[in-house]
Amino acid sequence: MPIGFELAPDVEDVRQRVREFMDKEVRPVDEKLSEEHADRGAYVQAIVALRKKAREAGLWNPHLPPEWSGMGLGPVGMAFVSAEAGRTTIGPFVINAQAPDEGNMHTLHHWGTTEQKEKYLRPLAEGLCRSAFAMTEPEVAGSDPTLIQTTAVKDGDDWVLNGHKWFASGAHGARFAIVIACTDPDADPPQARNSSFIVDTPTEGWEIVRDVETMAGPANHPEIRLTNVRIPAENMLGGRGEGHRLGQYRLGPARLAHCMRWIGNAEVALEMMVDRALKRYAHGSFLAEKQAIQWMMAESAMELYTGKLMVLHAAYKIENGLPFKQEVSMTKVHVANTLWRIIDRAIQVHGALGYSTDTPLERMMRTARAARLADGADEVHMQTIARNIISAFKKDGNTRAATGELL
Ligand SMILES: Cc1cc2nc3c(=O)[nH]c(=O)nc-3n(C[C@H](O)[C@H](O)[C@H](O)COP(=O)(O)OP(=O)(O)OC[C@H]3O[C@@H](n4cnc5c(N)ncnc54)[C@H](O)[C@@H]3O)c2cc1C
Repeated sequence: MPIGFELAPDVEDVRQRVREFMDKEVRPVDEKLSEEHADRGAYVQAIVALRKKAREAGLWNPHLPPEWSGMGLGPVGMAFVSAEAGRTTIGPFVINAQAPDEGNMHTLHHWGTTEQKEKYLRPLAEGLCRSAFAMTEPEVAGSDPTLIQTTAVKDGDDWVLNGHKWFASGAHGARFAIVIACTDPDADPPQARNSSFIVDTPTEGWEIVRDVETMAGPANHPEIRLTNVRIPAENMLGGRGEGHRLGQYRLGPARLAHCMRWIGNAEVALEMMVDRALKRYAHGSFLAEKQAIQWMMAESAMELYTGKLMVLHAAYKIENGLPFKQEVSMTKVHVANTLWRIIDRAIQVHGALGYSTDTPLERMMRTARAARLADGADEVHMQTIARNIISAFKKDGNTRAATGELL
């Protein structure tokens, strides 16, 4: 069977159009905003104006089908779009494919009832509101959702939620949140203990305690207390006990979507590294002529290339209904660490300038650190990867099934 790396003409066309739009329309605004250290108001205004242009250019909701005002791209097409958008800070917002809304849209599209889709997916798809996803809790390991302590108890036709969440990205200003809560504490297996609910926000008993300050500043990752939050039974998303499954369904493609954006981000860092090395002169030659610097470039290029192949292969598997969890876990760990290392090397090549706040690199590095934690810490993914390797070996006497099933 031949292996083709050519893009379908429609995907190539979309890639070119997104690239052009990002270069011409988004990047100049992105650079201006970061130069001016713009406040949130300026960001919002700029994004609103650019969103209008993106819609007019037919670059809106790349991940949704046309009946939801989308471009109907599958995961492979999305890899190209997200990598282009990920080259700027605001690019994903401009085309309405930002986290956590993109993942929530996928989830609602797949799991929502007709009524839930009209009420929650429609305004999200039209860019009229934002949403959040609240699973992680401060008291118990986010890595193990079977420990979730937030409870949902049936009371008449309603569910009553009590608990404590944090890092619910985007919750401040969101119109609703998908909340994972324990409905069946004695269920066996423990993965069947949780259910998910759509909570209109703000609502009585939904208290944003604070916006958790992070390395990357206040970035809308609030801590939330739920006290007797009452929601109607029809706001359960998916079936009772399916909260874990829904979370896994949501996180698989959402993790890969992060990787796609990080590829774009890492590419920018590598380009900055090369640009600086070509311009900076020391000890008789430009930095780009020195082997130590060339090795940094070469290592970065190899890691980025590997990451791109991994993203595309995992996307291909999702798109074709093949098992993809092992590939997505491997890709997530690899790309998150590649991003970190390439930004670090770019800072090294920039010297003191790299350490300063005069270039975007320091901000990129602070933001990139979260990549190794959010949507599953490295160690948790690596535990899964190793488990799959061991079971493939036990079953087949080799590890091929757990290493991409390629060669
Ligand atoms: C920027 C950012 C945005 C986020 N957005 C959201 C969001 O929108 N919604 C949401 O619900 N959550 C969100 N999170 C939370 C994120 O999903 C959790 O941080 C993640 O699941 C890890 O959980 P934890 O922080 O509780 O760490 P813990 O579970 O306490 O783990 C801490 C460390 O322990 C180690 N560890 C854990 N388990 C194992 C294991 N089995 N083997 C070996 N080592 C292990 C790892 O090194 C891990 O980093 C976000 C986090 C960040 C940083």
